[in-house]
Amino acid sequence: MKKTKTALDTDIRFIKGVGEARAAALNKLGVFTLRDLVRYFPRTYDDRTSIKKIDELIVGETACVFATVATAPRVTHIRKGLDILKLRCVDEKGTLNVTFFNQSYVKNQLAAGEGYVFFGRVGGKIGAPELTNPVFEPEETFGTRTGRIVPIYRLTAGLSQNMLANAVRRGLEACGDVLPEPLSPDIQQRYGLAQARFAFENVHFPKDYEALEIARRRLIFEEFYVLSCALDRFRSEKTVRRGHAVPRADLKEFTDKLPFELTGAQKRAIDEALSDMEKTVPMSRLVQGDVGSGKTAVAAACCFSCARAGFQTAFMAPTEILAKQHYETLTGMLTPLGVTVELLTGGMGVKARRTACGRILSGEAQVIVGTHALISGGVEYRKLGLVIADEQHRFGVAQRAALSGKGESPHVLVMSATPIPRTLALIVYGDLDVSVLNELPPGRQKVDTFAVNEAMRPRINAFIRKQVQEGHQVFIVCPAVEENSENPVDELKNVKEYAQELQKTVFPDLRISLVHGKMKSAEKDKVMSAFASGQLDILVATTVIEVGVDVPNATLMVVENADRFGLSQLHQLRGRVGRGKSKAYCILFEGAGGAVARDRLNIMTKSNDGFKIAEEDLRLRGPGDFFGSRQSGLPETHIANFATDMELLRSAQAAARETVAADPRLELEQNAELRFEVELMISRNENTLN
Ligand code: ADP
Ligand code: MG
Repeated sequence: MKKTKTALDTDIRFIKGVGEARAAALNKLGVFTLRDLVRYFPRTYDDRTSIKKIDELIVGETACVFATVATAPRVTHIRKGLDILKLRCVDEKGTLNVTFFNQSYVKNQLAAGEGYVFFGRVGGKIGAPELTNPVFEPEETFGTRTGRIVPIYRLTAGLSQNMLANAVRRGLEACGDVLPEPLSPDIQQRYGLAQARFAFENVHFPKDYEALEIARRRLIFEEFYVLSCALDRFRSEKTVRRGHAVPRADLKEFTDKLPFELTGAQKRAIDEALSDMEKTVPMSRLVQGDVGSGKTAVAAACCFSCARAGFQTAFMAPTEILAKQHYETLTGMLTPLGVTVELLTGGMGVKARRTACGRILSGEAQVIVGTHALISGGVEYRKLGLVIADEQHRFGVAQRAALSGKGESPHVLVMSATPIPRTLALIVYGDLDVSVLNELPPGRQKVDTFAVNEAMRPRINAFIRKQVQEGHQVFIVCPAVEENSENPVDELKNVKEYAQELQKTVFPDLRISLVHGKMKSAEKDKVMSAFASGQLDILVATTVIEVGVDVPNATLMVVENADRFGLSQLHQLRGRVGRGKSKAYCILFEGAGGAVARDRLNIMTKSNDGFKIAEEDLRLRGPGDFFGSRQSGLPETHIANFATDMELLRSAQAAARETVAADPRLELEQNAELRFEVELMISRNENTLN
């Protein structure tokens, strides 16, 4: 059932009053068709509803005023690049001076003796009001650019607000009765949503604020609904692939050997994963849990079950040192049960690597822990049943796919400590089912957290020294050396100088070292290992330490310029300490961020709950920042905002689920429009949806 072209697919060049030049400018804004044009939503609105007489104008406020041009406009050429046009206007109550800078062309639009409506911010002084560069229109067209709520669009060279508003207006006329309408009457009614015509009219040219709200609500819902339908379709298509059914092993043997009792959350996550793996549909599951929630034990249980069923597991970590740490942990848990664990990293010698690869190919190695080396060309598996990726936000979707390609659609388990609010997890992780570890192992201590300013510096330095004297270790974290920062060289120099300064002037007797993102990974690993084995007292680091290296003897985390980190990031950093038996602390220097930064940091001092912190972070900073600027993982939206429109996202997801359940391939006639919009959404977000 192919949908034929409709009026909505008309190229904007053919819309009255647009033409080639403006069409080219609109193309730059991503507007190609009539459908795009009516969906080019205002960035904000200008309230031009207040109408005043000249003697009622108040300096500093914006207002519309009806006035007659009293003196013909006069242009004065002040110097090259500066023309001033002045005119005087009157109404029955007073006189108003109007000035335009470098807009001498308006001279011909303002005739003496004619009436106009002016809108702008009132300047001058009491009794002598002035308007500078006001918006104006003849009295006859009042209500078009003045006297109403006016849309403000994002512009590009060659377009003005006026041109855009006119193009949209013409576009809405050209649409006639065919506006995009992916929402069935049933959905509209049940969710109390406005009809398309009302929504599009009022989002661009709102009758009043109430109408604007109703319009926005419907359009935001619509966008989320289409997006959710697109994601549900991905999910239903994924289930077509076939993989291995892995029968579930008796875990008693495994749990008996563990030095601790599994938490309820761990048991649940393991059970969910093992149930998934019993099916021939490959598992795609995310285990999401705060730092220290015990994700490794969940992974180990899955490795064990796979090994008992005769399958191999590839366990991929983002860094070599983490791979080694996992290797040791897994060896400790699994070797006593007769499961063989193998390490494979890029840093291994050729010979050791060849031996390891041999054992992987023969199937002798049952659990293989490593870095990216696991997906490099030379590695072949005997019977790969499961792939586990730790800290998945460090792995691209492509890498995950490359690894999956090594077997016949192995089950995939990804583990992440990034606590993404559940609603968003559905979108960011698309096809993944989610298990949440929402319970920390018992006896876990709270890391006491303090937000401090420079005045506290001497006391903090004394505190650092005290921790070291007691035999503990200290992390000091500085904001990362960003690739795309204005001057990465300077920032790197800063961290280096900072470490040197600290060594020279503050702690000449302590063992201090530095790690940063620009170091080679072998170098980095060397320093991290030295710190982990207690050969260093203080480790100065950029955020490279964020990903899970375990140093139980580290009891203090100091963060410089903490205002430059996201709260979730700070929470991750804080999770690096408090892993041992001794009391642990986190000190946040508030930097130059001011009161807003202090409010944010105070959330850290009050909460230890990663999910709560993530929600707050999302609320305060919006999703772009929340996920880091490099790749938000979220699809682009026209009007909906993932941070502020969470409620609508929830109901749209519910509606989408019903729709797709009733018509999985969206083949019913009533879903034709929806299907078209879903396909459009998919084609425009190929890179983010997964
Ligand atoms: P993360 O979720 O951050 O990867 P880990 O798996 O590294 O957490 O576990 C953190 C620490 O908690 C480890 O030292 C681990 O041995 C311990 N641990 C995990 N599960 C439990 C449990 N149920 N009871 C007690 N300690 C646990
Ligand atoms: Mg971990």
